[in-house]
Amino acid sequence: MRFDILTLFPEMFAGVFDATIIGRAREMGHVEIVLRNIRDYAPGKHHVTDDTPYGGGGGMIMKPEPIFNAVEAILGIEIPPDGYRSLLQQGYPPIILLTPQGRLLKQAVARELAVHERLLLLCGRYEGVDERVCQFLVTDELSIGDYVLSGGEIAAMVLVDVLTRLIPGVLGDPEATANDSHSAGLLEYPHYTRPANYRGQTVPDILLSGHHAKLTEWRRQQSLARTLARRPDLLAEAELSEVDRKYLATLQDSSEDEVTP
Ligand code: SAM
Repeated sequence: MRFDILTLFPEMFAGVFDATIIGRAREMGHVEIVLRNIRDYAPGKHHVTDDTPYGGGGGMIMKPEPIFNAVEAILGIEIPPDGYRSLLQQGYPPIILLTPQGRLLKQAVARELAVHERLLLLCGRYEGVDERVCQFLVTDELSIGDYVLSGGEIAAMVLVDVLTRLIPGVLGDPEATANDSHSAGLLEYPHYTRPANYRGQTVPDILLSGHHAKLTEWRRQQSLARTLARRPDLLAEAELSEVDRKYLATLQDSSEDEVTP
């Protein structure tokens, strides 16, 4: 998978993209990341990339020209007057703006995006980008959460990380992501490692029992119980079996018993 990241601060990505899983994925050729400095595409001697907002108000707005120029140069195209969106059908890559106004990045959204061979990620700064960039260039807008960052760079790093994990061959164990929180709509069960007794706190017996079927059942129940306790909103969308539903019902009954005088 290839990412072209359009940013005013390419230097922010060093480290995050060089180490551990993303670094290895790049070395192995699973992922290619090309950092594009938007300033390089800004016309004029001073390569100005931002300006004051029409109508007044504080802050600066990222100008459209450098961003349109960057996309045209990177893809070797001319953006049609009705916008870039029509080029998607011809196989050109999606252009994703990272913005707190976008749809929320969830694991299901990541899976949907992971099918693409190439993505262009646009990082905003200041008060954001000129609206014509959103209307005529960007094909998707993603938010990493309901809060405001200073720029889209950290959001782009999050997106690249989430997508890289989904590329076959990047994680040694292909099953590794199957039980991850949010993969099947639930939170993952708790993990323990050696020692079995740490400061008097012991590991649940089931984990030491070697009983495979019971362990699988325990993990599923822990996953359901955690999700019910911490993120009950997820249960509405999760794939649940009849056995899961019965177990959840017993948990709900017992918690009601606790509060009933
Ligand atoms: N004035 C904008 C608004 O209220 O929608 C916020 C601008 S923010 C200070 C600057 C840039 O950070 C945005 O253009 C966007 O690229 C990025 N950003 C901020 N919060 C984000 C979030 N939750 N998810 C993704 N990108 C975000």
